Amino acid sequence: MAKLVLHIQNIDEAGKDYAFELSHAWLDATLQDAGLRADPAAGPGLLQLHAQQNGTEYLVNGTLQAQLVTECGRCLAEAKLPVKTVVATLFSRVSGKQLPAVQELTEDDLQREEFVGQEIVLDDLVREHLVLEVPMQPLCSEACPGIPVPERVRPPQDVFASAGSIDPRLAPLQRLRDKVPPQPESHADTGSKQVSKQASKQAPKQASKQASKKE
Ligand SMILES: [Zn+2]
Repeated sequence: MAKLVLHIQNIDEAGKDYAFELSHAWLDATLQDAGLRADPAAGPGLLQLHAQQNGTEYLVNGTLQAQLVTECGRCLAEAKLPVKTVVATLFSRVSGKQLPAVQELTEDDLQREEFVGQEIVLDDLVREHLVLEVPMQPLCSEACPGIPVPERVRPPQDVFASAGSIDPRLAPLQRLRDKVPPQPESHADTGSKQVSKQASKQAPKQASKQASKKE
């Protein structure tokens, strides 16, 4: 299945340029597990590389671009995901007897990989770069309102009361008050809160000292 292969016998210290077209079919198959696919409305992706030998190591760098689509994190519709990123990897050739260790130590933005034999296969590397470009919450548009809540499960409009109206927790009291017929004094109450507060803080603490005196 590998498609993106560099044959090291073609790569010397002067280096060689490569351009790989990333077809929709390849992108779709490679990215299926990651919930990504090629944007059907766009052209193929492109991987442009320069590879050069340095002893037993091969420095591969260049750019990777592709038009992908994924699912919008809010409304589940299609979210377009244009990818343009840099590839910079140093491949070390190791003996065929040991399996290449999967190591992705990043030093100075340079990724390190190992390979065996005569071929450097880039499929996994490219896949990884594409997947890493997907944001945590891809959106079909910044203004995406999300999935509309169906009318029948929507709360009534007045639940989220506007400022100034009564707290919903106090609604039963409000209803109770509404049932009480208006009294003559109730007009005065509305205008003067201060009077009623003062009146309530008087009176206790006098009865206790009266019974204590006997001669
Ligand atoms: Zn959306």
